Amino acid sequence: MRFILMGPPGAGKGTQAEFLVDQFQIPQLSTGDMLRAAVAEGNELGILAKQTMERGDLVPDELVLGIIAERIQMPDCANGFILDGFPRTIGQAHALDNMLKKLGITLDVAINLDVPTDVLFDRIEARARAAGTARADDNAATLKNRIEVYTEQTLPILDHYQANGLLETVDGTATPASVTATLMVILEERTKPEAAATSQPHASLQF
Ligand code: ADP
Repeated sequence: MRFILMGPPGAGKGTQAEFLVDQFQIPQLSTGDMLRAAVAEGNELGILAKQTMERGDLVPDELVLGIIAERIQMPDCANGFILDGFPRTIGQAHALDNMLKKLGITLDVAINLDVPTDVLFDRIEARARAAGTARADDNAATLKNRIEVYTEQTLPILDHYQANGLLETVDGTATPASVTATLMVILEERTKPEAAATSQPHASLQF
């Protein structure tokens, strides 16, 4: 099972991803987490990304593409993965298409968790209060910018996944449990082995 979990900051991607990782035993590839780890480690990537992240802007595509290309080929991704926070630009979406093509793998679905902006502000401010200084970019000042960046640079990729038939939009204002239930239905539908189901459904009944 290979899919993208999309949605603006505060849409609930992290909460849902945590459940789905457990459910399907596949890793969550969060570019945000990977970049934060690089910043914490103070390595070259972290040094390059730190200030951009603190402003709530996107780090350059090539940096993110490098870490994803490496991560996606690790053995634990062999049975699938959840992409969280990637792709975030049209350039990243096209690069991902090429990367997957070269690896001979396809995505099952791109799920968009849809949440209106006013709800996002409330949620992230609450998260920032709860987390204290856990995340340098979880504050009202950068939040506004992160939502703007999402609207300008990431929303357009929904059209890309709509056009190739992979997009599913889910109401992210429902309760977490209800969002989870909807995601499970979508994932089951999208990963049904249709060819097998239609070509040999009665074979066993004849014996
Ligand atoms: P959010 O809660 O805003 O969705 P993330 O944890 O996914 O946050 O990302 C935090 C920050 O990391 C982003 O604001 C951006 O600076 C950087 N980042 C994460 N993923 C990407 C990406 N795919 N492309 C560019 N920058 C990214």
